[in-house]
Amino acid sequence: MTTIIDGKAVAAVLREKVASVVAEIGAQQGVQPALAVVLVGEDPASQIYVRNKHAATEKSGMRSIEHKLPAETSEDEVVALVRKLNDDEAVDGILVQLPLPNHISSDRVINEIHPDKDVDGLTEANAGRLMLGKDGLVPCTPQGSVILVKTVTEKLSGLHAVVVGRSILVGKPLSMLLLAENCTVTMAHSRTKDLASVCREADILCAAVGVPRLVKGDWVKKGAIVIDVGINRIEENGKKRLVGDVDFDAAKENAGAITPAPGGVGPMTIACLLRNTVLAAARRRGFAVTV
Ligand code: NAP
Repeated sequence: MTTIIDGKAVAAVLREKVASVVAEIGAQQGVQPALAVVLVGEDPASQIYVRNKHAATEKSGMRSIEHKLPAETSEDEVVALVRKLNDDEAVDGILVQLPLPNHISSDRVINEIHPDKDVDGLTEANAGRLMLGKDGLVPCTPQGSVILVKTVTEKLSGLHAVVVGRSILVGKPLSMLLLAENCTVTMAHSRTKDLASVCREADILCAAVGVPRLVKGDWVKKGAIVIDVGINRIEENGKKRLVGDVDFDAAKENAGAITPAPGGVGPMTIACLLRNTVLAAARRRGFAVTV
């Protein structure tokens, strides 16, 4: 029997946990964590993401602060806003919605975020902390992926994890997190020779590629845990639909456990953002929380 990992259900449990920690620190410390989101321009997908983050933040009992700036805002103006949020004692987390308009360097803007408020975990400081095995804020999608793996096995130590994709947003941090769990990690990418054979070695196979159904059923070792990070919009039989980077129907015949896409890793991303915000609020103020 293959376990279909229900990301929606796992995310709902995590969000409830965050909400109860928020209520607890409100009662005990008089603190209401706040997340500031900066959106530049009118990209329709980004507007939906920001709306969803706002709703989820408020639902968890935290304060959501939105800064919507016109597309023609200059890079210096965005940087000035980030610096203001860094200095604002009431703000615990800062998220700059990507992509930014072409005239703005996301690299510069992201790295202006104070690492202790960087709830997306994308600053060089937090990437370095992750690499060094130090406490920091970890990118949400990779963190969510590891939480999903742990719902089916607590014993990650010694397992061979293959991560297909080496982006800064997903593949690299996911590999670091799995290494921190004592997995033996192989990072595969577009230049990997015989990707199918590499994938067949995996006890944990993670796909973060952006190519619809790249990972075929016979690339999956019997009993492997398959985490599909991909979200791809395709048109099939005249209908628009979302599919992952894994051929789900074929892969589930071999997998021991597998995430669907959508409904797997996706819902974990916002849940982990909320988790990071409450962690940032607690750490900055010097008290410990478990979430
Ligand atoms: P990305 O920045 O485009 O990186 C894609 C990676 O896949 C690169 O490292 C690339 O290798 C590798 N790759 C591309 N084609 C390949 C192939 N044919 N064989 C092997 N490797 C290949 O993408 P990303 O931001 O990591 O996102 C990956 C996927 O995850 C996308 O579908 C995205 O929509 C999804 N995603 C989902 C969430 C979520 O919340 N669920 C969040 C973020 C992203 P090279 O480095 O060699 O070019």
